[in-house]
Amino acid sequence: MENNITIERMNYLIKVLSDASYNYYVLDDPKITDQEYDAYYRELETIEKLHPEWAQPTSPTKKVGGEVIDEFKKVEHTIPMLSLGDVFNEDEIIEFLQRIENSGVHSNYVCELKIDGLSVSLHYEKGILVRAATRGNGVIGEDITHNVKTIKSIPLKLKQPLDIEVRGEIYMSKETLEKINKERISNGEKPLQNPRNAAAGSIRQLDSKIAAKRNLDAFLYHLPNPEDYNIPTHHEALEFLKSLGFKTNPNNRIVKNIDDVMNYIHEKGEIRKDLPYDIDGVVIKVDNIKDQQKLGYTARTPRWAIAYKFPAEEVLTKLNDIIFTVGRTGKITPNAILDPVQLMGSTISRATLHNEDYVISKGLMIHDTVSIRKAGDVIPEVVEAKVERRTGEEIPFKMITNCPICNTKLIKIEDQVDYFCPNPNCPARHIESFIHFVSRPAMNIDGLGDRLMEDLYNFKFISTIPDIYKLKDKKDALTKLEGYGEKSVTNLLNAIEDSKSNSLERLLFALGIKNVGKEKAKILAKTYKNMDNLSKATYDELVEIPDIGPIISRNIVDYFNDETNIKIIEELKELGLNMDYIGEELNVKEDFQDKSFVLTGTLTKLTRDEAKALIENAGGKTVGSVSKKTYAVIVGASPGSKYEKAKELNIPIWTEEEFLEKINS
Ligand code: NAD
Repeated sequence: MENNITIERMNYLIKVLSDASYNYYVLDDPKITDQEYDAYYRELETIEKLHPEWAQPTSPTKKVGGEVIDEFKKVEHTIPMLSLGDVFNEDEIIEFLQRIENSGVHSNYVCELKIDGLSVSLHYEKGILVRAATRGNGVIGEDITHNVKTIKSIPLKLKQPLDIEVRGEIYMSKETLEKINKERISNGEKPLQNPRNAAAGSIRQLDSKIAAKRNLDAFLYHLPNPEDYNIPTHHEALEFLKSLGFKTNPNNRIVKNIDDVMNYIHEKGEIRKDLPYDIDGVVIKVDNIKDQQKLGYTARTPRWAIAYKFPAEEVLTKLNDIIFTVGRTGKITPNAILDPVQLMGSTISRATLHNEDYVISKGLMIHDTVSIRKAGDVIPEVVEAKVERRTGEEIPFKMITNCPICNTKLIKIEDQVDYFCPNPNCPARHIESFIHFVSRPAMNIDGLGDRLMEDLYNFKFISTIPDIYKLKDKKDALTKLEGYGEKSVTNLLNAIEDSKSNSLERLLFALGIKNVGKEKAKILAKTYKNMDNLSKATYDELVEIPDIGPIISRNIVDYFNDETNIKIIEELKELGLNMDYIGEELNVKEDFQDKSFVLTGTLTKLTRDEAKALIENAGGKTVGSVSKKTYAVIVGASPGSKYEKAKELNIPIWTEEEFLEKINS
């Protein structure tokens, strides 16, 4: 948030938010993201709270969003249609529940999905639909009866001949939106931005034939006058709506406390992707109607309900630069340097751009505003440049021609996308190959991170792989390195010594023979049993091994024909490294042997693959779902339903730290 508490800033925010609201509610064509809107909104709320004397009656914080457009007949809402207060994290939900408790209300709550559509009010007379209206500005809405009548799930006639008003959300399914957008794109039209704006745009058509084609749907979730029907709770009102023939959402749930609410949020966050319609959060409502009345309303929102908004899955940030890194094979990778931004629980400041073709295909320019998301919920990825936000200051991307580290001219193999630094002595390649050597799936030397490796290389402690095992002779000098005390150096040297006894497959993978990954290294180690045998293997022999194939066979033969490599292996042998296959049982640990584990949530110190490898290495296995046979569930950030299941079945739950402690014990 801007730390700028001035009247000018407040007026600026009012202007930005009012313009955004007009684009969003009137034109159904937002120009900023909901996250940007919400962030500006919160900033404005803060300024207004600190300076109530500056507040303006026209501020967006004082009114319900929408505007009413003239083309439609106006409808006055006898009971105002309000918005909902927003919360974004557990603490804010606790605060909301606390506020309610403090008002002397001790009710159950109902959790509901927050459907990403637009709210509608339906009026029935003697059970017949006579009028449907948008929320509009909360007091005056637009008459959309002609279009609402095209929505199949909204009954034209109720199961009882009542005079009644009901409210709910009109939405467009993901499938319909996708279909419509395909059609629009093939007709050269602009795709509809999101299901909310698509639904709003469709329902506010003057021609109901267009609305009919849009295949809209609706969930009903509110009965404004429950006392008229002697209904004491919100959940009973929902049942009543269902009994009248309305579609209510099957995910609605009565809950009792904050734990139940958080479970609901996690659970629904996990199934969100599989729902046929978009949701942008969860609504938490006081169940008891008398309590709702006691709590009342602000000008904009009820005090008895709140909307928890899911964290954004895609956020905008600035692409400040594109820098190039050199991998251990010499491969050059362009990387996006981003304005740090929060995304699903972590701060993202960098994302790989893979290769030149990738950057060109996305049309990225330096200084672009870009949207980023996490691919597979883990790895940050640049989705696209927001071309409409360009200012003319953007700089075109240009692929480099020389290595950014050693300045050697780069090469590109015909028909391949990657550029390579061909210099075998390029320092970047060396450092990367050492980092790979000590990494977890390779020799698994704890404490030798990227920065320390760079220092050790730059201060000439390590110039070749065997130098790693000679560090113990330089203990005194090492402890003098800035930031590395006696204890961390001792731990590091112990970890290096321990790694000497690794089974052959780790060493093979660590040496970085081209295309020999973890799995192939294991096959080779199992087949040849020791380094000597493998070094003498012929191409014809290797190519016969299932899963090895001609390219890897050629690479292995070439590797062992290279004098430098042989020298490294000889040296490692002399330094005491194990060169035999000693089987997978090497690191078996009691807590893991023959036990099954489930991983859930985002781990921060390890990738999922690394965690799985560690478990396998210790004699355990990872499985996809929690059952009574699960030994423990390892839980990262934002865990899903597996976490709930584990609690339900009383399965031990380990945090990532606890897991690492046990595995490293
Ligand atoms: P809201 O969308 O945050 O929440 C209130 C609405 O939620 C209700 O009016 C109702 O329509 C809906 N809802 C869905 N499921 C519900 C359920 N089960 N129970 C009750 N209500 C349910 O509030 P809003 O006032 O409609 O819109 C404000 C939001 O719209 C902002 O927070 C922002 O995210 C977005 N917005 C974006 C822009 C933009 O330019 N991107 C501009 C204006 C508003």
